[in-house]
Amino acid sequence: MRWGPAGIPMEFEGNTAGAIGYTAKEGLNAFECEFVRGVKMRNDMAVEARKEAEKNKVSLSAHAPYWINCAAKERMKVDATLRNILDTVRIAKVLGAGVIVFHPGFYMGRSPEETMTLVKKTLEEALGRMEQERISNVWLGLETTGKGTQFGTLSENIELSASLEMTKPVVDFAHIHARYGGILKKKEDYLKIFTEIENKLGEEAVKNFHSHFSEVAFGDKGEKHHMIIGEAYSPPFKPLAEVLVENGYEGTIISESPLLDIDALKMKRMYEEAASRKR
Ligand SMILES: [Zn+2]
Repeated sequence: MRWGPAGIPMEFEGNTAGAIGYTAKEGLNAFECEFVRGVKMRNDMAVEARKEAEKNKVSLSAHAPYWINCAAKERMKVDATLRNILDTVRIAKVLGAGVIVFHPGFYMGRSPEETMTLVKKTLEEALGRMEQERISNVWLGLETTGKGTQFGTLSENIELSASLEMTKPVVDFAHIHARYGGILKKKEDYLKIFTEIENKLGEEAVKNFHSHFSEVAFGDKGEKHHMIIGEAYSPPFKPLAEVLVENGYEGTIISESPLLDIDALKMKRMYEEAASRKR
C-alpha cells in the first residue's frame, strides 16, 4: 500500500521536491502534486521533484485543475478542458507521475447518457493528443464526484474506463459517501465498491488502485468540506482498512483531510493494525 498527502505537508515550507523528501522521512511513500488552480510548475522544478521521488521511492500522482468539464456546452470550454488535461499530463510525464486525477464534468440539465457521450468524446480527443505527443505512461484518473450535479458516479467512471485505454476510476470515498447521504458505514459498503471495480475492470484494477480518503461534511446537495479523520464525521476508515487487508487489495490512498500528511500517517497506522490483527 502507498500513503501520502494531497499537496505540501502541514508543517513543511518549501518547494515540491523538498516536500517529497519530507514526506518520505515521515514514513509515507506517495505524494499527489496539486495543480487544482492551474499548472504553473516549471519543467526544471518537475525534474528536481522527480529525482527526489525516485531517490526516496515515493510514487507521484497529479491532480488536474478544478475547472475541467469534459461535457462543456461551448467548444471554447471544451478546448480549455483539453488544454488543462494536456498541461497536467505533460507535467506528469516530466514528474514521472503515473496518473492525473480530475472530476470529469457536469450534467448541466442533460441526461447521464447524453453527458456520458460528450465526456467520452472529449477524453478520446485528449488520448489522441497524448498519442501524438508520444505520452504513453500517464493514466487519466476519473475521480468519483461528490455532488448530484456532477457527472462521475463510480459506475459512470468504470464504464468509461472499460471502453477507453489508459483511463481508470479514482475512488474518492468521501465523495461517494457524501453524494448518497452517508452510505459508507460497514465493511460490506466498501467491499461493494471494490467488487464492482474488479467485476468490470479485472483484478489489476484492484491490485493497483488510486484513491482519495478523508471524512466529509455533507448536506442534501452532497459534499461540503473534507474533514479530519477520526473525529466527529464519517465515513469511518477502519472498515476500509479491514477490507483492504482481508481481500489483498492494493494501491494508493491519498489523504485529502485538512491534516494531509498527519492523517495519511494515521490511516497507514490503522491499516498496519488491521494487518497485524489478521496475522
Ligand atoms: Zn478527491
